[in-house]
Amino acid sequence: MSATNEQADPVETTEASGNLLTVRGLKVHYPIKKGLIFDRTVGHVRAVDGVDLEVPRGQTYGLVGESGCGKSTLGRALLQLEEATEGEIDFDGTDLTRLSGERLRVMRRRMQMVFQDPMASLDPRQSVQSLLIEPLKVHGLAPSDIEEFGPDSPKSHLAKAASMLEVVGLPRASLAKYPHEFSGGQRQRIGIARAMILNPDLVIADEPVSALDVSVQAQVINLLERLQDLFGLTYVVIAHDLAVVRHISDRIGVMYLGHIVEEADADTLYAEPMHPYTLALMSAIPVPDPVLEDTRERVLLQGDLPSPANPPAGCRFHTRCPFAQDDCRTEVPELRTIGPRKVACHHAEEIHRNAEITVIDGAS
Ligand code: SF4
Repeated sequence: MSATNEQADPVETTEASGNLLTVRGLKVHYPIKKGLIFDRTVGHVRAVDGVDLEVPRGQTYGLVGESGCGKSTLGRALLQLEEATEGEIDFDGTDLTRLSGERLRVMRRRMQMVFQDPMASLDPRQSVQSLLIEPLKVHGLAPSDIEEFGPDSPKSHLAKAASMLEVVGLPRASLAKYPHEFSGGQRQRIGIARAMILNPDLVIADEPVSALDVSVQAQVINLLERLQDLFGLTYVVIAHDLAVVRHISDRIGVMYLGHIVEEADADTLYAEPMHPYTLALMSAIPVPDPVLEDTRERVLLQGDLPSPANPPAGCRFHTRCPFAQDDCRTEVPELRTIGPRKVACHHAEEIHRNAEITVIDGAS
């Protein structure tokens, strides 16, 4: 249905861009309850507190930040697994925050999630065959509904599961096995196959390689890239480590205490990070050259991440920022455009001019 149609559905948006996903002013707040029967709301945990982002079709948006910064909550909210307190999530012309019941379920088939810990996300009592076929049954898909079956393909759920396993690099014989019989990397491949079997448009990958050995991480990232090429997928990849999202992302958002504090295309962000928090995350990535590693200037984070129930006034980063000045304690910095990026810092230009930070080009 056209978004300009006068009879347009109220959940349709006027979005007419090449973005598959557009988020505007998204907030996810959790009430803090007290009292004998927890009937008094005494505050809110502001896990996501006013996020805007856009993800063009077929591209990858990397979302990075420390544990507790709100990135996983944001990822779950994009699929409406967490209820939005405020804001819009436009997915292919439909505002997901206004959907419920069957209409949301139908949309969710087009949006799948890959989780950090495949051992926790795969039921150990189910065989791989059962794990892969289950999503097809849950969504009531008959084999004939599944587009990727070619005209000559055997049309059965089992055939679909076997072909999906091959796509992710596992033999057909894996169908009869159980999750504990696989390595961590192989289990993540099964988790990816389970997400892909519904032929989604959007995949949210939440720390998809952080539970894996470094040697296996690159293989899984390469697999995600290959699947993106094969199926034209759009990704949001969430990670605490900038090095992980570097190669797979077209655009990267750096998140701190529920806000995006810097956003740029991957090359710009790595070549010229501007926000002090991004500089600190960059400093945490080891440089392969041991001499450079010992001598490079670092931006070190002071203290712990403040509570999202009681975020600092002014710039939320000021309690840990080595460049903080008086105005940072009282005035909230807007996310403003500076050249090819957006930065939420009052003093970004001045810090950028003066900082002699070793950029981690060459680190993986
Ligand atoms: Fe640091 Fe101030 Fe910039 Fe915040 S606004 S990042 S406290 S310099």
